[in-house]
Amino acid sequence: MSNKASLPDGKGDGRVLKHYLVGCAACPDYSYENVNRALRVAIEKTGGLPPVGKQVLLKPNLLSPREPDEAVTSHPAIVRETASLLKEKFPASSLLVADNPGYIFTDRKESLFRATGMWEIKKEGLAEVSLLSRDGYKSLRLPKPLALERVCVSSIWLLADSVINIAKLKTHVETEITASIKNVFGTADRDTRMAAHSAKGKAHLYRSIIDLFLVRPPEFNILDAVWCMEGNGPSRGMPRFAGWILASRNALALDAVAAFMIGYEKPFSVPFLAEAAKSGLGPGGMEEIEVRGAKLEELRIPSFKKATSVIGNIPDRLRGFCHRLLFLYPELIPKKCIGCGVCEKVCPVQAITIKRIPEIDRSKCVKCLCCHEMCPEGAMAVKENLLLGMLRKIS
Ligand code: SF4
Ligand code: SF4
Repeated sequence: MSNKASLPDGKGDGRVLKHYLVGCAACPDYSYENVNRALRVAIEKTGGLPPVGKQVLLKPNLLSPREPDEAVTSHPAIVRETASLLKEKFPASSLLVADNPGYIFTDRKESLFRATGMWEIKKEGLAEVSLLSRDGYKSLRLPKPLALERVCVSSIWLLADSVINIAKLKTHVETEITASIKNVFGTADRDTRMAAHSAKGKAHLYRSIIDLFLVRPPEFNILDAVWCMEGNGPSRGMPRFAGWILASRNALALDAVAAFMIGYEKPFSVPFLAEAAKSGLGPGGMEEIEVRGAKLEELRIPSFKKATSVIGNIPDRLRGFCHRLLFLYPELIPKKCIGCGVCEKVCPVQAITIKRIPEIDRSKCVKCLCCHEMCPEGAMAVKENLLLGMLRKIS
């Protein structure tokens, strides 16, 4: 399945440059009118929506039952207006909005859809709304795995005729950025996600996400960057206004532009995006991306706060290596903890035991920060290791 915007053209250094389009439109708020107008413009700049099949899946980011203004999840206005545009253009298609939240929220379907505003879309009759786990998972052996030889992926995801990926722009303490590519992580079952967060390190996580993405790349990608998240995302950062909606047929092109927006002068220096480029997901550099609807520099969000795991003054070529030496780890804030046990359930290596409060076995902890991400009370803080703290002080 090709997401290329146009045919390759040649370049003097022997590399074949390809051409990927990213459409942008300013959007001042989440009023239906403004979102609809901005979506139309951004999509039009990419050459329009590709034709879709009968069963169309809209895949927002519904990480946890949080309100839209917390900027954790894709805003319901973007999902709603995307559904409206699809209905208008392809009236014969049936639409389903679906995602899987973090593991422990899968049995809280009602509160998830209510808090994130998805029930309203269902009530209006614009689309069905469901969990991606509804029809079970299919186990697949990957012919050329980067990290995971076997994955279990949502049947809904695999069987949809067309997928429209509706991601949220956020920082991420592990992958630095979460946008279109990372949004496919929710298509996998709990065991696959646990295996991705194993003790094998960050590169293993990046490759696992890419393995999942390549199982079934979405046909089209929309990025909610009206309000995004800065600081220690993807669930405990701070909302930050950016005022843009982006669209592209290619997820990596879109994410590279998004990385530029949040302060990466060289988006392909983000190890996760570099790995995606190496795996052939899309462009190999910014010279292969054409941004339409705005100048790239106009998209930059001033003084954006990256995740604290990111050290800006490390040379690009050392970034991947330094991730092994500079890291964050979880630390309990006892007075905030209600002893709910969520952190124990989500820990992929069983490093947490709930006694009166959680105890972390540091010898087992792989510093994936899932406990931090999923704690409903914000009681699992992230701490910098000594070297990271020292570097931050002098940077
Ligand atoms: S740290 Fe958070 S997730 Fe863990 S028991 Fe306490 S409140 Fe629950
Ligand atoms: S204790 Fe937290 S950071 Fe450590 S492995 Fe478990 S979930 Fe990941």
